[in-house]
Amino acid sequence: MRGGSESVRLSFCRICEATCGIRVRVSGNRVVAIEPDREHVASRGYACLKGMRFAEVQHSPDRVRHPLKRVGDAWQRIAWDDAIGEIGAKIRALVAAHGPDTLAHFMGSPAGATTLAPPIQQAFLAGLGTRQAYGVGSVDCNNKFRVNQEMYGSPFRLAFPDVPHARFLMLLGSNPSVSNTSLVHLPHSIQALRDVERRGGASESGSSGRIRTYNPSVNSRMLYH
Ligand code: SF4
Repeated sequence: MRGGSESVRLSFCRICEATCGIRVRVSGNRVVAIEPDREHVASRGYACLKGMRFAEVQHSPDRVRHPLKRVGDAWQRIAWDDAIGEIGAKIRALVAAHGPDTLAHFMGSPAGATTLAPPIQQAFLAGLGTRQAYGVGSVDCNNKFRVNQEMYGSPFRLAFPDVPHARFLMLLGSNPSVSNTSLVHLPHSIQALRDVERRGGASESGSSGRIRTYNPSVNSRMLYH
């Protein structure tokens, strides 16, 4: 796209599986700002700070755009062919010495939320013959997939809670303010939780009329009202 006046493009954030709807203000080839899309059917105006600040990542001078090789304490730019050749040689040597399970792969949220990365990862790992595949789910949500496999026969039949009719809702290990109830996909989850109380239901704190979420990993409490 050539430079010109500012325009708005409708899109969705690919950083995590919440896939919030966003309005991207662009001018030429630059992203000027990213805003929540209040009309989006899946998020209804929710978007977290990570998605809203992604223009700064996109245009950051520190963004890695080419292979870097660590030489001593410094990073040196090298050609793609050299990088792929060196990595391939190291992988072959490790597999020859220790077997394929010596290699492990970890996939982060943005890669997991794209269409191409998971099948490419699976093909790569199958080609290597390693069983060591990890990702963010290994850290915080494989339990959900396992429970759904045991209860419904497939790890991907994720149970969807009936929040619109709930009278009491307790969320454990979840912070809807930073992930829009990831995996559950409640459109604008904070609003949906407030609606539980508006209908006369109770939050975990009883009749206080407030929604509280706790993050035990940092021993802190976040309060929404
Ligand atoms: S929760 Fe944040 S990071 Fe995830 S899709 Fe929405 S805006 Fe992006």
